[in-house]
Amino acid sequence: MASVGINKLVIIGVGLIGGSFALALRKAGRVRHIVGVGRSRENMQRALALGAIDEIAADLASALSGANVIFLAVPVGQTGETLARMAPLLEPDSIVTDAGSTKQDVIAAARLHLLRHLKNFVPGHPVAGAERSGASAADPDLFQGKNVVLTPLEETSADATQLVTGLWQACGATVSRLSAAQQDDILAAVSHLPHVLAFALMDLLSGTQGTSSDTLKAGELLRFTGTGFRDFTRIAGSSPEMWRDICLGNRDTLLRRIDAYQRELAAIRDMLARNDGEALERLFTNARETRRRWVKKSS
Ligand code: NAD
Repeated sequence: MASVGINKLVIIGVGLIGGSFALALRKAGRVRHIVGVGRSRENMQRALALGAIDEIAADLASALSGANVIFLAVPVGQTGETLARMAPLLEPDSIVTDAGSTKQDVIAAARLHLLRHLKNFVPGHPVAGAERSGASAADPDLFQGKNVVLTPLEETSADATQLVTGLWQACGATVSRLSAAQQDDILAAVSHLPHVLAFALMDLLSGTQGTSSDTLKAGELLRFTGTGFRDFTRIAGSSPEMWRDICLGNRDTLLRRIDAYQRELAAIRDMLARNDGEALERLFTNARETRRRWVKKSS
Protein backbone atom coordinates (compact mmCIF):
# COMPACT_ATOMS: atom_id res chain seq x y z
CA MET A 1 0.00 0.00 0.00
CA ALA A 2 1.43 3.41 -0.98
CA SER A 3 1.53 6.53 1.21
CA VAL A 4 -2.14 7.65 1.20
CA GLY A 5 -3.32 4.18 2.14
CA ILE A 6 -7.09 4.00 1.83
CA ASN A 7 -8.41 0.77 3.18
CA LYS A 8 -12.06 1.23 2.19
CA LEU A 9 -13.26 3.68 -0.44
CA VAL A 10 -16.98 4.12 -1.10
CA ILE A 11 -18.09 5.56 -4.43
CA ILE A 12 -21.64 6.85 -4.52
CA GLY A 13 -22.56 7.20 -8.19
CA VAL A 14 -20.23 4.95 -10.19
CA GLY A 15 -20.43 6.73 -13.54
CA LEU A 16 -17.80 8.45 -15.66
CA ILE A 17 -16.29 10.43 -12.78
CA GLY A 18 -16.88 8.00 -9.89
CA GLY A 19 -15.67 5.05 -11.96
CA SER A 20 -12.62 6.93 -13.24
CA PHE A 21 -11.63 8.03 -9.72
CA ALA A 22 -11.88 4.41 -8.54
CA LEU A 23 -9.86 3.05 -11.48
CA ALA A 24 -7.21 5.77 -11.14
CA LEU A 25 -6.69 5.14 -7.42
CA ARG A 26 -6.60 1.42 -7.98
CA LYS A 27 -4.01 1.86 -10.73
CA ALA A 28 -1.94 4.06 -8.38
CA GLY A 29 -2.12 1.37 -5.69
CA ARG A 30 -3.73 3.76 -3.21
CA VAL A 31 -6.80 1.76 -2.24
CA ARG A 32 -7.46 -1.72 -0.96
CA HIS A 33 -11.23 -2.20 -1.27
CA ILE A 34 -13.80 -0.20 -3.27
CA VAL A 35 -17.52 -0.39 -2.61
CA GLY A 36 -20.01 1.07 -5.08
CA VAL A 37 -23.42 2.55 -4.29
CA GLY A 38 -25.62 3.13 -7.30
CA ARG A 39 -29.04 3.69 -8.75
CA SER A 40 -29.07 1.33 -11.69
CA ARG A 41 -28.32 -2.36 -11.19
CA GLU A 42 -27.07 -2.73 -14.75
CA ASN A 43 -24.56 0.11 -14.40
CA MET A 44 -23.29 -1.31 -11.10
CA GLN A 45 -22.78 -4.75 -12.66
CA ARG A 46 -20.77 -3.08 -15.42
CA ALA A 47 -18.66 -1.23 -12.83
CA LEU A 48 -17.97 -4.54 -11.10
CA ALA A 49 -17.08 -6.29 -14.35
CA LEU A 50 -14.72 -3.44 -15.31
CA GLY A 51 -12.95 -3.69 -11.96
CA ALA A 52 -13.90 -0.15 -10.91
CA ILE A 53 -15.46 -1.56 -7.73
CA ASP A 54 -14.92 -4.74 -5.73
CA GLU A 55 -18.40 -4.92 -4.34
CA ILE A 56 -21.90 -3.59 -4.95
CA ALA A 57 -23.23 -2.31 -1.62
CA ALA A 58 -26.16 -4.25 -0.24
CA ASP A 59 -27.35 -1.07 1.48
CA LEU A 60 -26.00 2.35 2.42
CA ALA A 61 -25.42 1.47 6.09
CA SER A 62 -23.13 -1.47 5.30
CA ALA A 63 -21.37 0.56 2.59
CA LEU A 64 -20.54 3.40 4.98
CA SER A 65 -19.49 1.14 7.83
CA GLY A 66 -15.71 1.39 8.23
CA ALA A 67 -15.32 3.69 5.22
CA ASN A 68 -12.15 5.78 5.16
CA VAL A 69 -13.23 7.94 2.22
CA ILE A 70 -16.64 8.46 0.64
CA PHE A 71 -16.63 9.95 -2.85
CA LEU A 72 -19.91 11.42 -4.02
CA ALA A 73 -20.25 11.52 -7.82
CA VAL A 74 -23.98 11.80 -8.47
CA PRO A 75 -25.69 14.60 -10.46
CA VAL A 76 -25.51 17.68 -8.19
CA GLY A 77 -29.30 17.82 -7.79
CA GLN A 78 -29.10 14.48 -5.93
CA THR A 79 -26.54 15.75 -3.42
CA GLY A 80 -28.93 17.02 -0.72
CA GLU A 81 -31.01 13.88 -0.59
CA THR A 82 -27.91 11.65 -0.68
CA LEU A 83 -26.18 13.56 2.15
CA ALA A 84 -29.38 13.45 4.22
CA ARG A 85 -29.47 9.64 3.92
CA MET A 86 -25.73 9.36 4.64
CA ALA A 87 -25.56 11.71 7.65
CA PRO A 88 -26.97 9.41 10.37
CA LEU A 89 -24.81 6.51 9.12
CA LEU A 90 -21.45 8.30 8.93
CA GLU A 91 -18.62 7.18 11.16
CA PRO A 92 -16.82 10.09 12.87
CA ASP A 93 -13.54 9.61 10.98
CA SER A 94 -14.89 9.01 7.47
CA ILE A 95 -13.80 11.69 5.00
CA VAL A 96 -16.52 12.81 2.59
CA THR A 97 -15.64 14.48 -0.68
CA ASP A 98 -17.49 15.09 -3.93
CA ALA A 99 -17.02 15.77 -7.63
CA GLY A 100 -20.01 18.04 -8.29
CA SER A 101 -19.48 20.61 -11.03
CA THR A 102 -21.09 23.33 -8.91
CA LYS A 103 -19.92 24.05 -5.41
CA GLN A 104 -22.13 26.65 -3.70
CA ASP A 105 -25.27 24.48 -3.95
CA VAL A 106 -23.37 21.36 -2.84
CA ILE A 107 -21.94 23.26 0.15
CA ALA A 108 -25.40 24.60 1.07
CA ALA A 109 -26.68 20.99 1.10
CA ALA A 110 -23.69 19.87 3.18
CA ARG A 111 -24.29 22.67 5.71
CA LEU A 112 -27.87 21.51 6.05
CA HIS A 113 -27.14 17.82 6.52
CA LEU A 114 -23.55 17.17 7.62
CA LEU A 115 -23.46 19.49 10.66
CA ARG A 116 -20.75 18.15 13.01
CA HIS A 117 -19.27 16.13 10.16
CA LEU A 118 -18.42 19.29 8.18
CA LYS A 119 -14.84 19.13 9.44
CA ASN A 120 -14.46 15.96 7.38
CA PHE A 121 -16.13 17.32 4.24
CA VAL A 122 -13.90 18.41 1.34
CA PRO A 123 -15.89 19.80 -1.61
CA GLY A 124 -14.17 19.26 -4.94
CA HIS A 125 -14.53 19.48 -8.69
CA PRO A 126 -12.33 17.71 -11.23
CA VAL A 127 -12.09 19.98 -14.27
CA ALA A 128 -11.95 16.96 -16.51
CA GLY A 129 -14.59 14.94 -18.13
CA ALA A 130 -16.21 13.82 -21.31
CA GLU A 131 -19.58 13.83 -23.00
CA ARG A 132 -19.95 10.11 -22.21
CA SER A 133 -21.58 8.84 -19.05
CA GLY A 134 -21.96 5.70 -16.96
CA ALA A 135 -19.41 3.21 -15.64
CA SER A 136 -18.55 1.95 -19.12
CA ALA A 137 -17.09 5.40 -19.90
CA ALA A 138 -14.74 5.28 -16.88
CA ASP A 139 -11.05 5.76 -17.65
CA PRO A 140 -8.15 5.40 -15.18
CA ASP A 141 -6.25 8.19 -16.99
CA LEU A 142 -9.11 10.70 -17.16
CA PHE A 143 -7.55 13.01 -14.57
CA GLN A 144 -3.91 12.78 -15.75
CA GLY A 145 -2.58 16.32 -16.16
CA LYS A 146 -5.99 17.85 -15.39
CA ASN A 147 -6.97 20.43 -12.78
CA VAL A 148 -8.98 19.61 -9.71
CA VAL A 149 -10.44 22.46 -7.70
CA LEU A 150 -11.00 21.98 -3.98
CA THR A 151 -13.17 24.48 -2.10
CA PRO A 152 -12.69 23.54 1.57
CA LEU A 153 -14.96 25.17 4.14
CA GLU A 154 -13.75 27.11 7.18
CA GLU A 155 -14.75 24.05 9.17
CA THR A 156 -12.88 21.55 6.97
CA SER A 157 -9.86 20.16 8.79
CA ALA A 158 -6.43 20.58 7.22
CA ASP A 159 -5.90 16.81 7.50
CA ALA A 160 -9.06 16.04 5.49
CA THR A 161 -8.07 18.52 2.75
CA GLN A 162 -4.56 17.10 2.65
CA LEU A 163 -5.81 13.55 2.32
CA VAL A 164 -8.15 14.41 -0.57
CA THR A 165 -5.40 16.47 -2.22
CA GLY A 166 -3.13 13.42 -2.06
CA LEU A 167 -5.76 11.18 -3.63
CA TRP A 168 -6.26 13.53 -6.58
CA GLN A 169 -2.50 13.88 -7.03
CA ALA A 170 -2.28 10.08 -7.11
CA CYS A 171 -4.80 10.23 -10.00
CA GLY A 172 -2.31 12.47 -11.85
CA ALA A 173 -4.19 15.74 -11.28
CA THR A 174 -2.98 19.19 -10.25
CA VAL A 175 -4.93 20.44 -7.27
CA SER A 176 -5.90 24.11 -6.79
CA ARG A 177 -7.93 25.79 -4.09
CA LEU A 178 -10.60 28.39 -4.75
CA SER A 179 -13.59 29.75 -2.91
CA ALA A 180 -16.84 28.09 -3.97
CA ALA A 181 -18.09 31.40 -5.41
CA GLN A 182 -14.92 31.84 -7.48
CA GLN A 183 -15.09 28.29 -8.84
CA ASP A 184 -18.78 28.65 -9.76
CA ASP A 185 -18.16 32.00 -11.46
CA ILE A 186 -15.20 30.69 -13.47
CA LEU A 187 -16.90 27.43 -14.45
CA ALA A 188 -20.07 29.26 -15.49
CA ALA A 189 -17.97 31.16 -18.04
CA VAL A 190 -15.78 28.37 -19.40
CA SER A 191 -17.94 25.28 -19.00
CA HIS A 192 -21.58 25.87 -18.15
CA LEU A 193 -22.18 28.60 -20.76
CA PRO A 194 -20.50 26.61 -23.60
CA HIS A 195 -22.64 23.58 -22.76
CA VAL A 196 -25.80 25.68 -22.84
CA LEU A 197 -24.74 27.08 -26.24
CA ALA A 198 -24.07 23.62 -27.69
CA PHE A 199 -27.38 22.26 -26.40
CA ALA A 200 -29.18 25.39 -27.67
CA LEU A 201 -27.76 25.08 -31.18
CA MET A 202 -28.63 21.39 -31.53
CA ASP A 203 -32.10 22.03 -30.15
CA LEU A 204 -32.61 24.96 -32.50
CA LEU A 205 -31.58 22.88 -35.50
CA SER A 206 -33.84 20.03 -34.43
CA GLY A 207 -36.71 22.42 -35.08
CA THR A 208 -38.84 20.87 -32.33
CA GLN A 209 -39.28 24.13 -30.39
CA GLY A 210 -40.67 25.86 -33.44
CA THR A 211 -37.92 28.46 -33.06
CA SER A 212 -36.00 27.52 -36.17
CA SER A 213 -36.80 29.66 -39.18
CA ASP A 214 -35.22 27.05 -41.44
CA THR A 215 -37.45 25.55 -44.00
CA LEU A 216 -35.18 22.51 -44.17
CA LYS A 217 -35.73 19.64 -41.74
CA ALA A 218 -33.02 18.77 -39.16
CA GLY A 219 -31.95 15.67 -41.09
CA GLU A 220 -31.38 17.66 -44.26
CA LEU A 221 -29.45 20.40 -42.44
CA LEU A 222 -27.23 17.98 -40.57
CA ARG A 223 -26.28 16.11 -43.75
CA PHE A 224 -24.08 19.09 -44.64
CA THR A 225 -22.19 19.55 -41.39
CA GLY A 226 -18.39 19.62 -41.22
CA THR A 227 -15.76 19.16 -38.55
CA GLY A 228 -16.31 22.68 -37.18
CA PHE A 229 -19.91 21.83 -36.41
CA ARG A 230 -18.85 18.54 -34.83
CA ASP A 231 -16.27 20.33 -32.64
CA PHE A 232 -18.70 23.05 -31.58
CA THR A 233 -21.53 20.67 -30.67
CA ARG A 234 -19.55 17.75 -29.20
CA ILE A 235 -20.54 18.65 -25.65
CA ALA A 236 -24.25 18.54 -26.54
CA GLY A 237 -23.71 14.76 -26.33
CA SER A 238 -23.43 15.13 -22.52
CA SER A 239 -25.90 13.83 -19.96
CA PRO A 240 -29.11 15.97 -19.96
CA GLU A 241 -29.81 15.06 -16.33
CA MET A 242 -26.37 16.11 -15.18
CA TRP A 243 -26.51 19.39 -17.10
CA ARG A 244 -30.03 20.21 -15.91
CA ASP A 245 -28.69 19.98 -12.35
CA ILE A 246 -25.54 22.01 -13.08
CA CYS A 247 -27.56 24.81 -14.72
CA LEU A 248 -30.06 24.94 -11.85
CA GLY A 249 -27.28 24.60 -9.25
CA ASN A 250 -25.38 27.61 -10.66
CA ARG A 251 -28.46 29.46 -11.89
CA ASP A 252 -27.76 33.07 -10.85
CA THR A 253 -24.20 33.09 -12.12
CA LEU A 254 -25.17 31.33 -15.33
CA LEU A 255 -28.00 33.80 -15.95
CA ARG A 256 -25.45 36.64 -15.80
CA ARG A 257 -23.18 34.81 -18.27
CA ILE A 258 -26.07 34.17 -20.67
CA ASP A 259 -27.02 37.87 -20.48
CA ALA A 260 -23.43 38.87 -21.31
CA TYR A 261 -23.38 36.44 -24.24
CA GLN A 262 -26.69 37.82 -25.52
CA ARG A 263 -25.16 41.33 -25.43
CA GLU A 264 -22.17 40.05 -27.41
CA LEU A 265 -24.42 38.41 -30.01
CA ALA A 266 -26.53 41.58 -30.21
CA ALA A 267 -23.36 43.60 -30.87
CA ILE A 268 -22.34 41.22 -33.67
CA ARG A 269 -25.86 41.31 -35.08
CA ASP A 270 -25.67 45.11 -35.09
CA MET A 271 -22.34 45.12 -36.96
CA LEU A 272 -23.80 42.78 -39.52
CA ALA A 273 -27.02 44.77 -39.91
CA ARG A 274 -25.06 47.96 -40.61
CA ASN A 275 -22.63 46.15 -42.92
CA ASP A 276 -19.68 47.03 -40.69
CA GLY A 277 -17.03 44.61 -41.94
CA GLU A 278 -14.25 46.47 -40.13
CA ALA A 279 -15.89 46.06 -36.74
CA LEU A 280 -16.61 42.38 -37.43
CA GLU A 281 -13.02 41.74 -38.43
CA ARG A 282 -11.72 43.56 -35.33
CA LEU A 283 -13.92 41.42 -33.11
CA PHE A 284 -12.98 38.17 -34.86
CA THR A 285 -9.27 39.10 -34.69
CA ASN A 286 -9.50 39.78 -30.97
CA ALA A 287 -11.28 36.43 -30.51
CA ARG A 288 -8.68 34.57 -32.55
CA GLU A 289 -5.74 36.19 -30.71
CA THR A 290 -7.29 35.42 -27.31
CA ARG A 291 -7.75 31.79 -28.36
CA ARG A 292 -4.21 31.56 -29.77
CA ARG A 293 -2.67 32.87 -26.53
CA TRP A 294 -4.78 30.43 -24.50
CA VAL A 295 -3.83 27.42 -26.69
CA LYS A 296 -0.14 28.36 -26.54
CA LYS A 297 -0.23 28.71 -22.75
CA SER A 298 -2.20 25.54 -22.16
CA SER A 299 -0.27 23.23 -24.49
P1 NAD B 1 -22.63 9.84 -14.88
O1 NAD B 1 -24.02 9.99 -15.36
O2 NAD B 1 -21.63 9.19 -15.74
O3 NAD B 1 -22.62 9.11 -13.47
C1 NAD B 1 -23.49 9.41 -12.42
C2 NAD B 1 -23.89 8.10 -11.78
O4 NAD B 1 -24.62 8.39 -10.60
C3 NAD B 1 -24.78 7.26 -12.68
O5 NAD B 1 -24.22 5.97 -12.78
C4 NAD B 1 -26.12 7.23 -11.94
O6 NAD B 1 -26.79 6.00 -12.10
C5 NAD B 1 -25.67 7.44 -10.51
N1 NAD B 1 -26.68 8.03 -9.64
C6 NAD B 1 -27.56 9.00 -9.91
N2 NAD B 1 -28.29 9.29 -8.83
C7 NAD B 1 -27.84 8.50 -7.84
C8 NAD B 1 -28.17 8.34 -6.48
N3 NAD B 1 -29.14 9.08 -5.92
N4 NAD B 1 -27.50 7.40 -5.74
C9 NAD B 1 -26.51 6.67 -6.29
N5 NAD B 1 -26.16 6.77 -7.58
C10 NAD B 1 -26.81 7.68 -8.34
O7 NAD B 1 -22.16 11.33 -14.49
P2 NAD B 1 -20.68 11.86 -14.26
O8 NAD B 1 -20.22 12.51 -15.50
O9 NAD B 1 -19.86 10.80 -13.63
O10 NAD B 1 -20.96 13.02 -13.20
C11 NAD B 1 -21.00 12.77 -11.81
C12 NAD B 1 -20.74 14.07 -11.06
O11 NAD B 1 -19.48 14.59 -11.47
C13 NAD B 1 -21.77 15.17 -11.31
O12 NAD B 1 -22.02 15.85 -10.11
C14 NAD B 1 -21.08 16.09 -12.29
O13 NAD B 1 -21.52 17.43 -12.12
C15 NAD B 1 -19.62 15.93 -11.90
N6 NAD B 1 -18.67 16.15 -12.99
C16 NAD B 1 -18.89 15.69 -14.26
C17 NAD B 1 -17.96 15.94 -15.25
C18 NAD B 1 -18.17 15.46 -16.67
O14 NAD B 1 -17.56 15.99 -17.60
N7 NAD B 1 -18.98 14.46 -16.91
C19 NAD B 1 -16.78 16.63 -14.96
C20 NAD B 1 -16.56 17.05 -13.65
C21 NAD B 1 -17.50 16.81 -12.67
